Amino acid sequence: MDLRHIPIVDHHAHPLLKPSATQTPEGFRQWFTESTDPLVHAQHVPHSLFFHTGLAWLAEELGCEPSLEAVLAARAARPYSEWVVHLFRQANIQVLLCDYGYGSDQAYSHPEMQALLPCRVEPILRLERLAEELIQRHATLGEMVDAFVERVSRARAEGVVALKSIVAYRTGLQVTQPSLEAVMADFQQARAQVAETGRVRLAHKALCDFLVIQALEQAASQELPVQFHTGFGDRDADLRWANPLHLRWVIERFPGAPLVLLHAGWPFYRELAHLAAIYANVWLDLSLAIPFATAGIPAMVRDVLGMAPLSKVLFATDAFTMPEIYWLAARWGRWGLGQVLDQFVAEGFLSPSQAQAAAQDILGETARRLYGL
Ligand SMILES: [Zn+2]
Repeated sequence: MDLRHIPIVDHHAHPLLKPSATQTPEGFRQWFTESTDPLVHAQHVPHSLFFHTGLAWLAEELGCEPSLEAVLAARAARPYSEWVVHLFRQANIQVLLCDYGYGSDQAYSHPEMQALLPCRVEPILRLERLAEELIQRHATLGEMVDAFVERVSRARAEGVVALKSIVAYRTGLQVTQPSLEAVMADFQQARAQVAETGRVRLAHKALCDFLVIQALEQAASQELPVQFHTGFGDRDADLRWANPLHLRWVIERFPGAPLVLLHAGWPFYRELAHLAAIYANVWLDLSLAIPFATAGIPAMVRDVLGMAPLSKVLFATDAFTMPEIYWLAARWGRWGLGQVLDQFVAEGFLSPSQAQAAAQDILGETARRLYGL
């Protein structure tokens, strides 16, 4: 099934970096892995399927040899903005929901992304990043929480299309109602960190849980989707606490908050498919697992679509840094989804028109409805 004509609503992605950050072999190669180890980048990434196919497909697109040197030279020869527009048009990405919380001085801002891309770009608000800014600015817990709730309550009115939490790789997904004493103690510790270093890295369980709960209350009242990082995708992630099954308390406590559980919970995609199948407020996102699972994508998608209703599954790229990653993710995603839907038709599980409709939903229509785009 060729799905290139179906536009993508990329409901979870991050900003591009300035082109100078990705022009060297090291700068380019490092984004083909989730590893931050330079030894892995240099010695093993060149032997990964994602990198092999990435070079081959890009070389084809650029009309050059499939070597790193040739691809880097060919892409550098094209004006950056023209190359970005080319890849996004080829990927047929129509809307991009962008989380700018991925900290880097090299990243483009929201207005810059809007100017650069040939598609609609809407912002996602990352909760822990907002909280860190507010902890630096406010000396008391009461003031900080008021400011946090006030900002999140205005999210939809200010054009934010979703909230995003990275609590998975800060203190884990086993969020529960903390005691006020514990929250106070955490806040004092966070403020002490600010006094000492001028900044804070929010990784205090009671405070993290408390703020996530405040945000979920605000999200439920605005019917604003909340994206949760689940599974792999950050070097801080202790995957034992990133299993989406830990979110059961949150899922049941906030039935009015649409919860979008990211990255297929990889490697816990079966667990996540189960949650999406039984809870009305849980959606399953395939990003990051697509493209990084490469040849394993059809096996994952088949398992997920076997268990979860087709209406609960969304495609996204979770791409960042370089336009090539969005393009490669779109290609891997369409390929994997097309493989599985072809199988379902051949096996008599879906009619061809049902398979087409499922592809349209998963690539974009479900996200349009969920985020009110
Ligand atoms: Zn992400």
